[in-house]
Amino acid sequence: MTGEDDKVIPVRVALRCRPLVAKEVNEGCQCCLTFVPGEPQVIVGTEKAFTYDYVFDPTAEQEEVFSTAVSSLLCGIFKGYHATVLAYGQTGSGKTFSMGGAYTSAQEDDPSVGVIPRVIRRIFEEREKKTDCEFCMAVSYLEIYNEEILDLLCTSKDKPAISIREDPKEGIKIVGLTERHVSSAQEMVGCLELGNSARTVGSTAMNAASSRSHAIFTITLEQLVSKLHLVDLAGSERQKKTKAEGDRLKEGININRGLLALGNVISALGDESKKNTFVPYRDSKLTRLLQDSLGGNSHTLMIACVSPADSNMEETINTLRYADRAR
Ligand code: ADP
Ligand code: MG
Repeated sequence: MTGEDDKVIPVRVALRCRPLVAKEVNEGCQCCLTFVPGEPQVIVGTEKAFTYDYVFDPTAEQEEVFSTAVSSLLCGIFKGYHATVLAYGQTGSGKTFSMGGAYTSAQEDDPSVGVIPRVIRRIFEEREKKTDCEFCMAVSYLEIYNEEILDLLCTSKDKPAISIREDPKEGIKIVGLTERHVSSAQEMVGCLELGNSARTVGSTAMNAASSRSHAIFTITLEQLVSKLHLVDLAGSERQKKTKAEGDRLKEGININRGLLALGNVISALGDESKKNTFVPYRDSKLTRLLQDSLGGNSHTLMIACVSPADSNMEETINTLRYADRAR
């Protein structure tokens, strides 16, 4: 790795546009985004251009996203930095696909596997190379649903109450959450699979299997006290489009609280002029939980996911703007 990777750039933003899915093709949707070859730039419609740290067009494979945008963060965690990868975007834009949040062991050598299984493989490869010290690793996997924390690795029926505490030495601690100590990639992938199958899914008028929660897979390197959070955020779509009512609407409000707070935190971190101003971590469970891994001694990558379809243009522009604010 070059010296460039050591430079602390607190937040990097990658835009990823998935291909048109069969349903969009059948409905006659057109692609409303243009990609500028060789530039990390995307043009919406005919005029507005946005530039990010990385732009992945619909032909980009999972391997390219991993090696270009994610793998440099992993060097940092072996040097004691925290790192966070966040997938943001409307339901159906490719967040879970990108992160690997639907991974099952049947996919083991499939090129379509996402970020989390690739990260796990790489971390254990790195650990093999480091003969001078032994790294103990632990994982946890949780979901934030309606501002409540759910433990995705707890299989018992009597689930303990979970709370967030701030320890002056160790930083943010989640009390009552299962932490599995793992010694192999297989064991860690097993935790991912277990949690994926436990994820809460709800249905909205927009996407029958849409995920209404934020899911956070956390790897801790215990000797270095570095934490890597891999986050599949809830859908960012506006509620009116999904005909949300009652409980669904309540979920929507809480979900947006997290995404709103995250946007405010990330834009405060990316802005030099706001360096000494207040960063609103306490506004949501999501930002509170990620507090010591956003800013300070940490690297963050936001993967903003969008659909290329003209029928989604309004939400796509919202995502492009949210991601633009993060830089
Ligand atoms: P989200 O988690 O944002 O709601 P998903 O990850 O479930 O969205 O993606 C929606 C659909 O699009 C899925 O069928 C998924 O397989 C497909 N998809 C998403 N991104 C890609 C991609 N880069 N290449 C191919 N198919 C994709
Ligand atoms: Mg999803």
